Amino acid sequence: MKPTGPIPADFAAKDGELVIGGKTVSALVREAGDTPLFVYSREIIAARIAAVRAAMPERIALHYAMKANPYPPLLEWIADEVDGLDIASGGELEQARTAGFLPREISFAGPGKRDRELEAAIATGVTLNVESEGEAKRALKIGERRGVAPRLAIRVNPGFEMRGSGMKMGGGAKPFGIDEDRVPALARTIVDAGAQWRGFHVYSGSQALDPQAIVETQAQVIALTAKLADEADVPVPHLNMGGGFGIPYFSRDTPLDLAPIGDALEQQFAQLPSALQDTQFAIELGRYLVGEAGVYLTTILDRKESHGVTYLVTDGGLHHQLAASGNFGTVVRRNYPVAIANRFGEEATGQASEEVSVVGCLCTPLDRLADNVALPRADVGDMVAVFCAGAYGASASPATFLGQGPAHEMLV
Ligand SMILES: *Cc1c(COP(=O)(O)O)cnc(C)c1O
Repeated sequence: MKPTGPIPADFAAKDGELVIGGKTVSALVREAGDTPLFVYSREIIAARIAAVRAAMPERIALHYAMKANPYPPLLEWIADEVDGLDIASGGELEQARTAGFLPREISFAGPGKRDRELEAAIATGVTLNVESEGEAKRALKIGERRGVAPRLAIRVNPGFEMRGSGMKMGGGAKPFGIDEDRVPALARTIVDAGAQWRGFHVYSGSQALDPQAIVETQAQVIALTAKLADEADVPVPHLNMGGGFGIPYFSRDTPLDLAPIGDALEQQFAQLPSALQDTQFAIELGRYLVGEAGVYLTTILDRKESHGVTYLVTDGGLHHQLAASGNFGTVVRRNYPVAIANRFGEEATGQASEEVSVVGCLCTPLDRLADNVALPRADVGDMVAVFCAGAYGASASPATFLGQGPAHEMLV
């Protein structure tokens, strides 16, 4: 038997069925027409946003990193709930504008931006977080040609990285940002060229569950950007401090405690270096806001035995939930939280529990949704729910693999 991650505490059962946004899974699937189906709960996202706002100093703005989940209805709804949006492509820029985000709320990072993407950002007045001297030069040239001053910030590749972070995005050689020792010269160049100078962006990691690691990183970001501003003798109108707030995916992961992060930031803000006295601060969060709000629902197509192992074969798989299959940046495959969605709550009572492996419908041994887990006895037609499916699910999985096509999606 292998453990599964913790089912987010937000979910409850009604008549033995998992309920999302007040509706039972069978009602949701009837409404959507079929499985596989991603359901995203507004209520849970709103609760995460409220928790972040309650814990953080008022001075800090909350941005959503849209690559976590760009589902258009979700994006439209979240536009009124957050203060800004972080995008990473021209395609995301179009989706963000369609969803109602204003250009001044949007900042655009990403290590490889085409000229036409730079041009779209400059023409609309979106902030570009430039990631190299070459990119800054191209942006300035496009601005000159169009007769507009581009809004430019520098993405810094810091010399440190976030301790315990799931995915490292800073420290040492990186394709992201500009090495810190070269930042002051470029900041000077940008300001002297007459661009709208916006300040700095420092993103040093993702999926951290240790609040102290985040506290240390934020203190380092503040110290570093103050030093860079002093060296370059430029103001810092805006500082995007990154994010990295993680969620519990696996057994023994515990929810991130926001209180110590907010308290430490409050202290930092009370004694800011002079370069940052008038700075607007932002954090950018993706999975923390939306990850636990999503459930991936699949239907069991077959139940079979092989050499003593019981397999539940579902109509879903890694083509929609690559991360849960263990093939999206993990070294060792571990089980996401899963449940039989129409027998929800029975796990707790241990009723008719059995050990099974849940697989997808793809013809590859990589297509596993849960290995050797204890679930209530389930048959063909029952539904398997995979939790923590609200971030890096539908849009981060190869939906066309094996001719399967996309899953249904729904915001409730
Ligand atoms: C991916 C990314 C994020 C969001 O990361 P999460 O782990 O989902 O919070 C934020 N900022 C940048 C620059 C990113 O690349």
